[in-house]
Amino acid sequence: MSAQQTFLRDAMRRLNMTRDSFAERIGVRRRALDTWLLPEDSSEYRTMPSIVEKFVGEILGREAPSGESTQSAHKSLAERIGVSGKPHLLSVDQFSRDSLEDLFHVADIMQPIARRQKISRVLEGAVLGNLFFEASTRTRVSFGAAFCRLGGSVCDTTGFTFSSMAKGESIYDTSRVMSGYVDALVVRHPEQGSVAEFARATNIPVINGGDGPGEHPSQAILDLYTIGREFSRLGKLVDGAHVAMVGDLRYGRTVHSLIKLLALYRGLKFTLIAPPSLEMPAYILDQVSQHGHVIEQSHSLADLKGADVVYATRIQKERFADEAIEGYTPDFQINEALIDKYCDSRTIIMHPLPRDSRPGANDLSTDLNNDPRLAIFRQTDNGIPVRMAIFAILMGVDKQVQHSMRDAAWRAPSHIGPDDASFDGLD
Ligand code: ASP
Repeated sequence: MSAQQTFLRDAMRRLNMTRDSFAERIGVRRRALDTWLLPEDSSEYRTMPSIVEKFVGEILGREAPSGESTQSAHKSLAERIGVSGKPHLLSVDQFSRDSLEDLFHVADIMQPIARRQKISRVLEGAVLGNLFFEASTRTRVSFGAAFCRLGGSVCDTTGFTFSSMAKGESIYDTSRVMSGYVDALVVRHPEQGSVAEFARATNIPVINGGDGPGEHPSQAILDLYTIGREFSRLGKLVDGAHVAMVGDLRYGRTVHSLIKLLALYRGLKFTLIAPPSLEMPAYILDQVSQHGHVIEQSHSLADLKGADVVYATRIQKERFADEAIEGYTPDFQINEALIDKYCDSRTIIMHPLPRDSRPGANDLSTDLNNDPRLAIFRQTDNGIPVRMAIFAILMGVDKQVQHSMRDAAWRAPSHIGPDDASFDGLD
């Protein structure tokens, strides 16, 4: 994303305006604004006139002087979101709406690196330790790739079998030992609360890559970042949105983090659709309802009618004994027929992935793969700029990234996936 796109997205976020209302506010046609927001390599991309930039700057100065309160204005973003004064990312509870949107701004700055147009070496010399004691493809590789794309390098260990935990080593000892080897840790572990225990044993940044059925904060941040970008294109705001969450809401840590993060916004309606034994835990519902949102619980997919976001999840079979799940029948599947029946062309369909594509799994169907409403791969692509932003913030280089960028020397494909062209130009 060029500085122009980053500037405009930040302005709309800070003013909390849709593209339509922002275009009207600055006196330009919506179509012109859209062309300024397209990727620079798009044939329809246009440069915004400097007079418009100046005008937007004036509006921001008057109406949105700073996203921060005066009390926190002198603090770094890492200090604002930190845990007991340390730069960890353990839970979405660490965020306010302002600090979250400041993180999104850093992620926007990372987009040209994620899109392979630019490179940066702000983390040159730093080493990341990826400690994954549970299965992972996306989280482990995207955290690793994000660290490498900022110039750092990565050491990985996967599973208990080949780690000293198999010899009875404690979390404290493992964490303290690793801190002597690496500069940041990403940890995934099957027990809720375990990653916080890693964090207590070290002063280097620790990021929760999933702690059992607890939380998955980086996933929720990239999910909300994706919702924001999709909504910007569709002319919607997160405030007042209708979000349907579907599937295993009991053990699915991504929805636990996401619903709490969405609760930072105003006036949402949540429709939580799960089989009877897999409903959202009460402690999370209590926390979300304190913010005054509407929460409806259901066992029927018909209730996702009119949702702006349909967020599907996998049944977390690894977290409970393999018994039949009441109500989880072939009807309980998000597919094209269902979405066409209950939703319109402006609904987006998301999933943290992996989706279980084996016969009988009833997970998100592949028949939506060519449908532009399916945002799952834009969602995974957004994992890179968001995770780069998390590292840059926690390691104190977020302000240096913009000026550190150089052109990439190699040529990347214009569309990363074979189905991406159907979404071309809608950015
Ligand atoms: N990848 C996500 C997680 O680790 C979702 C899932 O596994 O279903 O929580």
